[in-house]
Amino acid sequence: MIKKVCVIGGGISGLCTAFRLKKKGVEVLLVERGEVCGGNIQTEKTGDYLIEWGPNSTLVSEHLFELVAELRLLDEVAQANATAKKRYILKDGKLRALPLKIVDIISSDIFSIQAKLRLLRETFIKSKSPKNESVAEFFERRFGQEIVDFAVDPFVSGIFAGNPERLSIKSAFPLLFQMEKDYGSILKASLFGKKEKQGEFVPKGISRTVSFKSGMQTLTDKLAANLSDEIKTKTEVEQCITENGKWKIKTVSGNLNDESFDAIVIAVPSFVAAKLIENFDGELSRQLSEIYHPPLAVIVSAFRKQDIDFGLDGFGFLIPKVERRKILGSLWSSVIFENRAPQGVHLLTTFIGGARNAELFDKSDEELFCIAFDELDSILGLKVKPIFQQIKCWTRAIPQYNIGYEKIENDIEDFSRKNRGIFFCSNFYRGISVGDCVKNAHRTANEIEDYLKK
Ligand SMILES: Cc1cc2nc3c(=O)[nH]c(=O)nc-3n(C[C@H](O)[C@H](O)[C@H](O)COP(=O)(O)OP(=O)(O)OC[C@H]3O[C@@H](n4cnc5c(N)ncnc54)[C@H](O)[C@@H]3O)c2cc1C
Repeated sequence: MIKKVCVIGGGISGLCTAFRLKKKGVEVLLVERGEVCGGNIQTEKTGDYLIEWGPNSTLVSEHLFELVAELRLLDEVAQANATAKKRYILKDGKLRALPLKIVDIISSDIFSIQAKLRLLRETFIKSKSPKNESVAEFFERRFGQEIVDFAVDPFVSGIFAGNPERLSIKSAFPLLFQMEKDYGSILKASLFGKKEKQGEFVPKGISRTVSFKSGMQTLTDKLAANLSDEIKTKTEVEQCITENGKWKIKTVSGNLNDESFDAIVIAVPSFVAAKLIENFDGELSRQLSEIYHPPLAVIVSAFRKQDIDFGLDGFGFLIPKVERRKILGSLWSSVIFENRAPQGVHLLTTFIGGARNAELFDKSDEELFCIAFDELDSILGLKVKPIFQQIKCWTRAIPQYNIGYEKIENDIEDFSRKNRGIFFCSNFYRGISVGDCVKNAHRTANEIEDYLKK
């Protein structure tokens, strides 16, 4: 008998799970609230500008590469330009290039002599991460405060738009946590650790940072096209119900309420998942509803190349909190990938808000444009106002794996053991990056296949 699974949510996690299940011969129905699938992945083409409102790029991993090949998208892959390897940090109001290799730290002007000496002592630090250690505490213990201020803080801001003092090292950066456990030192693990330990697979000749020629949405559009008969858009799920060993969903429009499924996948944000499982586990529902998603404004602005004093030659820059600026950083989108802006023009993507400056999010679009321009001007030297600018405000952007998150993860696992046939695959569980979502979708589809066989 063919088994039927309902996937709730059509972001990359849900689409990829549904695609994998279909390939295994499972009958699948994906239900998406919006008019189109893609979730956070949103590319917009306006004139000659290619804008990413969500992820700008992703790192190649084994599962992602496999998926792209299966979807016959290899020719569409856009590799980051070699120049984009260079990344800047703002220190004392000036942009300074981040060292690309650990040995380059010695000659870098970002860190003081004391910080460099402290860094070298890391291999002798014998202590191990205690329970509930934050990202900031972990790095302060191993490398000292200056590394936290000028390397860790901006890095965390760039990935999570988060606060290193609140994020849990074990949950947000499990690889680093494991490196300390296995090697007793992050430096030793980076220099001598096996590459497979990092779980990454980079095919030869492929830059690790990639997107697609027509933007990130190429991936979700192609997945959706492969699942066109299996997708129901404009359908919002309010509740999951179980009856006689089968699963049902309750939708706002009531259109699918009579269909039964052998399993169900929750691939929606945590604050929506909280409502869907409320009837089964009030405590887990409460915890899911409380996962913090800081607000984030994304501003794209374009300038003629001759109107920017600083020669843009990198990925962009991030700003440490101690610099007390109103923007988190800016990606130089047209330097990273080809065809993001007209000839002779640079497109910049600037971020405001996050856990650091959440209060700025309440400002009007006009005020946010002004903040972005003033900050970019003081850092890059701009001769004129942008020739093009647009904004998107994410009220709840990225889930924060803050201290205490470990309990949520354990409770999700407990919940799945107690409530057979319900699976979670979303960025609030087991990783936030696009690569993590693809990997988790693969894992979830395998778990469902095993479950259905039983
Ligand atoms: C601004 C921003 C920048 C980012 N930058 C990067 C980056 O550079 N690199 C990177 O790797 N990652 C980045 N990320 C993270 C990454 O994009 C996300 O974690 C990932 O796309 C999440 O995918 P998802 O499918 O788990 O969730 P989502 O994309 O949130 O998808 C969930 C889907 O569920 C649907 N839904 C919600 N409620 C219901 C309901 N009741 N019924 C039915 N459907 C529902 C939604 O409409 C949505 O389509 C960024 C995220 C943001 C917001």
